[in-house]
Amino acid sequence: MEITRRDFIINSLILGGSLLCSSLPVFAGQKRRLGRWRPAYEKLESEGKLAERVEQAYAIFEDCRLCPRQCGINRQNGEKGFCRAPVRPVIFSANPHFGEELSLVGRNGSGTIFFSNCNLRCVFCQNWPISHRGKGKEIQDEDLAAMMLHLQKIGCHNINLVTPTQVMPNILNATRIALKKGLRLPLVYNTSGYERLEILRLLDGVVDIYMPDMKYMDADQASKYSAGASDYPELTKKGIIEMNRQVGELLINKRGIALQGLIIRHLVMPNRVAGTEKFVKWVVEALPKSTYVNIMPQYHVEYKAYEYPKIARGITVQEFLEAMEWAKKYGLTNLDPKSVAVRDLYSRRRSG
Ligand code: SF4
Repeated sequence: MEITRRDFIINSLILGGSLLCSSLPVFAGQKRRLGRWRPAYEKLESEGKLAERVEQAYAIFEDCRLCPRQCGINRQNGEKGFCRAPVRPVIFSANPHFGEELSLVGRNGSGTIFFSNCNLRCVFCQNWPISHRGKGKEIQDEDLAAMMLHLQKIGCHNINLVTPTQVMPNILNATRIALKKGLRLPLVYNTSGYERLEILRLLDGVVDIYMPDMKYMDADQASKYSAGASDYPELTKKGIIEMNRQVGELLINKRGIALQGLIIRHLVMPNRVAGTEKFVKWVVEALPKSTYVNIMPQYHVEYKAYEYPKIARGITVQEFLEAMEWAKKYGLTNLDPKSVAVRDLYSRRRSG
């Protein structure tokens, strides 16, 4: 049976939704009982080290080198660098989100806080009004802490910080404020992956779950589609290895909720722009084969992608299936279950 691109996208969404509603355990990840789990930042505070981290992080604002762009401007004085972020956090939204990985979503959703502005700025950005145009509201760290506590109160399973890099010091400060008022949820660092190793080390013992993208494996593609970030592949590889050192393999409790660990996201792009085969090979060589990897099929043409012929279309069924085939061939054992279900559906349809 021939599968059109429209069928592909619609069925991917439907399938994702049906998995979400299922009460069956569908997690491929290793399940462990973790005893009395505590968030990383709570332990750091009990050791008396979190306040010092907040101070160290805040000092970086005066000569901002929070990310590999290393603008060197003073954000405390109102200067703005490549990301256009001010010194206060700018928030687009803070809500339960049900479109994330199942172990983050659970029953009540992932407590997702979308930060405005971005240090990578891809031409195909799916959130471009927020990331490129900075749409959102500037708030105080205390307000950010209150949002975290509200998300906890309404039953969210984690605090999912989307595009956090440019506001990392505010996040640390807000987390400490919220901790003192009862925050106990896992902190998810949901990043484009464009990070500095030195900055990630400041997050050691603060973040519970790292969720980086690995967008490209090739410097030229990164430079072309992400505002000259030719160092993206090398830096992101180093960053992910550091993240894995800090939090290790994804740990899920008996209710299927992720508490700690690494989730790598890789968006399949048209014409093999994302370098999926190289990505899968690298994961197997650099990290445990059981690393949780989400190979995602939902690329669609957004923002300025129309101006770049190679990425000015969605991906085909064949492109997604070959990506999943590489994951199998190189031996990844912990793939996101929604991606696996989409793969199985299209494989069956093809042979049916
Ligand atoms: S966070 Fe923004 S201002 Fe700071 S170095 Fe990165 S791009 Fe420049």
